[in-house]
Amino acid sequence: MTNRDLFEKAKELMPGGVSSPVRAFKAVGGEPIIVSHAQGCRLWDVEGKEYIDFLMSWGPLILGHSHPRVVKALEEQLRKGLSYGLTNAHEITLAQMIVSAMPSVEMVRFVSSGTEATMSAIRLARGYTGRKYVVKFEGCYHGHYDGLLVSAGSGVATLGIPGTPGVPEEIANLTIVLPYNDVQALEETFKKYGESIACVIVEPIAGNMGTVLPKDGFLQALRKLTKEYSALLIFDEVITNFRVSKGGAQEMYSVDPDLTCMGKVIGGGMPLGAYGGKKEIMKKVAPEGPIYQAGTLSGNPMAMISGIATLSELFETNPYPYLEQISQQLCDGISQILSDKGITHRINRVGSMFTVFFTEKEVFDYSTAKTSNLELFGKFFRALLKEGVLIPPSQFEAWFLSTAHTKEDIDEALNRIDRAVRSI
Ligand SMILES: *Cc1c(COP(=O)(O)O)cnc(C)c1O
Repeated sequence: MTNRDLFEKAKELMPGGVSSPVRAFKAVGGEPIIVSHAQGCRLWDVEGKEYIDFLMSWGPLILGHSHPRVVKALEEQLRKGLSYGLTNAHEITLAQMIVSAMPSVEMVRFVSSGTEATMSAIRLARGYTGRKYVVKFEGCYHGHYDGLLVSAGSGVATLGIPGTPGVPEEIANLTIVLPYNDVQALEETFKKYGESIACVIVEPIAGNMGTVLPKDGFLQALRKLTKEYSALLIFDEVITNFRVSKGGAQEMYSVDPDLTCMGKVIGGGMPLGAYGGKKEIMKKVAPEGPIYQAGTLSGNPMAMISGIATLSELFETNPYPYLEQISQQLCDGISQILSDKGITHRINRVGSMFTVFFTEKEVFDYSTAKTSNLELFGKFFRALLKEGVLIPPSQFEAWFLSTAHTKEDIDEALNRIDRAVRSI
C-alpha cells in the first residue's frame, strides 16, 4: 500500500480525499501522507516511513501520541460504556479541573469540538446582550461556523478563500472584521457601533495566521472597551488552553474575558470542546436559562477520561518550563540553520507553539503574516517531509511540541532539518 494509491482512492470517496481541507497539502504541494500509527513524538505513514512530529494533531497532543496514562485510563473506560446520553461523574471531575485552572471560568458546558464551542459562545453572547453584531479579527480562525468564517485564518487563509460560498451575505454582514493588534480601529468601531455589538471574539495569542502575539495593551484595550459598551469579551483559547500555561493566555496576560472557548488539549486527542465563563452569563444557557444548546455526545465519557488523564498529568508534572526549554532549543537551532544558509526568516513563539515565517518584516497581524514567502515555505515543508520531519502543511499554522519530545529528539530533528535546508 502506498500513500499515493490510498490517496487516489480517498479522493473518489471523500471531497479532496480528506476530512478537513488542509490535510490535502494543497498549499505546500507534494503528496499527502496517509498515517498508519504514531507513538510519543513520532508518526509513521502506510509506507513505513517515520517522521518526528511537530504537527501533533494541530495542538491537542501536549503529552505526545498515546501517552501511557491516557491510554490506560481509556482502556479502563472502554469496558464501562462508550456513551450514556446522561450525566456521568467524569464530567464533574473535568469541569472542576477546568474551573480550578482557568482564572475567569466559573462554569462550563461541554461540546464536541472547538467550532461548537465558539458557535455556542456567540449565541450565548447575542442572547445575553440582546445585540447582533460580532467583532472578530482578520486572520483569526474560530472554527467553521458561518458568522465566523469571514476573513478567517487557518485553512481559509491557506486556500485563499475570501470567506466561503454558502454563507449568506446577511449573516456575513453581522460580523465586523478588524486588523489584529490595531487598538485604534477597535476604538473607532466601538464609537460607531458600540451599542449594537454583542461581543468581540479573539484568539488572545493567534495561532491560525501562524503564531502572532498580542502587542502590549491590545488585550487590555479589548477588555476596557467591551466593558465600557457592555459587550462581552470572548477569548478563543481552543489552542492556548493548557498549552501556553496552566491558566491559558488569560492567566499569562492577566486579562479576564467574559467567556472562554476551549478545545484541543482539554480532550487530549479525543473530540472535545467546551465554553465557559462567569456564572451570571453561563446560567442563561438551557436548561437553567433560555438560550438553547445541546449535544447527543456532549460530555462523552471517553472524551472526559482522556481530558482528565491529560490535565492530571499536566497539573502533577508542570511540564511548562521543560516545554519552554526544548522549544527554545528547537527554534534557536532552526534559526541558526536558516541564517547559515542566508535565508531571511522570523520566528514567533509562545512556549511550545511557534511559527517560522520567511520574511524580514515583524509579523503582528494577518497582512504582515502574508508577507512570508509562501513558495519558499512550500519547498521547506517538502524538504522536511522527505527527511522525516512533519510540520503543519501551511504557513498559517503553529508548530507544536510535546512532553514526549526529548532533547535528543530535538537534536535529531535539527540534523534532519539541516539536511533538508541544504537540499533546497
Ligand atoms: C482549532 C481551532 C478551532 C476549531 O476547533 P475544531 O475542534 O477544529 O472545531 C477554533 N478556534 C481556534 C483558535 C482553533 O485553533
